[in-house]
Amino acid sequence: RDYAARIDGKAFAEALRAEVAQGAARFQTQAGRQPGLAVVLVGDDPASQVYVKTKMRQAAEAGIASFPHLLPDSTSQAELLQLISTLNSDDQVDGILVQLPLPAQIEETAVIEAIDPAKDVDGFHPINVGRLSTGQPALVPCTPLGCLLLLQDRLGDLSGKKAVVVGRSNIVGKPMGQLLLNAHCTVTTVHSRSQNLAAECRSADILVVAVGRPEMVDASYIKPGAIVLDVGINRIEMAEGKSRLTGDVDFVAASSVAGAVTPVPGGIGPMTVACLLRNTLSAAQARTAQ
Ligand code: NDP
Repeated sequence: RDYAARIDGKAFAEALRAEVAQGAARFQTQAGRQPGLAVVLVGDDPASQVYVKTKMRQAAEAGIASFPHLLPDSTSQAELLQLISTLNSDDQVDGILVQLPLPAQIEETAVIEAIDPAKDVDGFHPINVGRLSTGQPALVPCTPLGCLLLLQDRLGDLSGKKAVVVGRSNIVGKPMGQLLLNAHCTVTTVHSRSQNLAAECRSADILVVAVGRPEMVDASYIKPGAIVLDVGINRIEMAEGKSRLTGDVDFVAASSVAGAVTPVPGGIGPMTVACLLRNTLSAAQARTAQ
């Protein structure tokens, strides 16, 4: 049989960023300024530094102004909340991104809840979570939004499809399930306490995997012809201090059964950043329309 199609998230993300750039240019003509994204990074976690740099470079390329706030590891919760309050009332700032994880002395929930929901481009504020789950317009978490756009591009209408989401985190699994439900899929979410994991997954037309376990999903988890989205980003240490990235899905094994699979890297990762820019533009448009 033919091997599965490789879903090119990188190319799709590039097209999405070009669309955002057009929207940002129109916004600038109308509003007299670029959409603005505040990027807050606390501490010097190397992976977070890379993510933040990529987000700011791609924002600039799309005509979105970014305002970096790089704070020391010793920053207190009160100091961070003070900065967020300033950004909430800054008219140039349409989106506020606080890169997670935060150092131990800062409570993530307190920070997320301090962000103005209208500027919450990560979609983590309980107001946006509630809006998503009640089907109201909301800022939606970037990674599951990227997954949904790829699925709609490939399958068109998702209604009636059987979708299984592996993982139930607040940033990926739960909002993914909600988006698929809103798109009229029949949704099952499985996690570390689930029984018959492989069998559950094998019932899926759409399988989204976000567990953080390298290549956990092999061919036995996949229904022939299914669409498999691999959200996982796992760094595997190799000899001589080198490392490589791998997903939660064994790409080669999955490709022998699935209809289409996203690779890692080059799949969901680039879509996540593109959706952050899309959310920033949406936030800018919504704020100026009021
Ligand atoms: P979390 O660690 O927050 O959640 C992992 C989920 O997987 C949990 O719900 C957990 O279950 C479940 N799980 C863990 N082990 C198993 C198992 N053996 N069988 C079934 N379920 C299991 O991770 P995130 O959701 O934040 O991220 C998941 C992966 O996606 C990571 O590799 C992360 O790096 C990556 N990621 C990639 C992004 C991108 O842009 N591509 C963005 C965000 C994350 P339980 O709830 O029971 O503990």
